[in-house]
Amino acid sequence: MQIDDLKKLPINDDELYFDYDLKKLNWFNIGGKTKVFFKAKSLTGLVNFLKTFKKRGKIFVLGAGSNVLISDDDFNGVVIKLGKNFQNLSILNENLIIAGCGISQKKLSEFSRENSLTGMEFMSCIPGSVGGGI
Ligand SMILES: Cc1cc2nc3c(=O)[nH]c(=O)nc-3n(C[C@H](O)[C@H](O)[C@H](O)COP(=O)(O)OP(=O)(O)OC[C@H]3O[C@@H](n4cnc5c(N)ncnc54)[C@H](O)[C@@H]3O)c2cc1C
Repeated sequence: MQIDDLKKLPINDDELYFDYDLKKLNWFNIGGKTKVFFKAKSLTGLVNFLKTFKKRGKIFVLGAGSNVLISDDDFNGVVIKLGKNFQNLSILNENLIIAGCGISQKKLSEFSRENSLTGMEFMSCIPGSVGGGI
């Protein structure tokens, strides 16, 4: 994978690392390194990164890391983690919730309860994010 252009990428609030250890990013604390690790703080940052990255290697989106077994072999691609701006929760109308993929399923369940909406009770004890659940 060509990563030189990525090193020149203007990084604003986002975080970009090379040869990044994945052990602390999963619940089992296992695995090797990823060639590139990108933590997107915003949608704009994510879009800019993906436009630069194009299809020059594998992409793996990591959620809360509760249900992944990461290999000890290094990952020759980019691992993307979505930051706090992807943890939005809001009510669109009286029975429709907008949830960012980074929010935990537990918080989505609690938010539903607080807004007197039913159907999300089962999520209250499921680990991980909405994106990971999907
Ligand atoms: C004890 C236990 C009980 C569970 N019970 C249930 C249950 O009752 N019902 C149920 O439906 N599920 C259940 N699950 C599964 C659960 O939904 C997932 O394990 C969890 O939501 C994964 O979320 P995560 O953020 O930790 O994802 P990770 O473990 O980080 O990733 C899991 C997968 O999701 C992908 N992924 C993560 N985020 C994104 C994203 N934003 N965009 C695209 N891909 C993404 C990853 O690439 C990976 O393939 C259970 C899991 C556990 C461990």
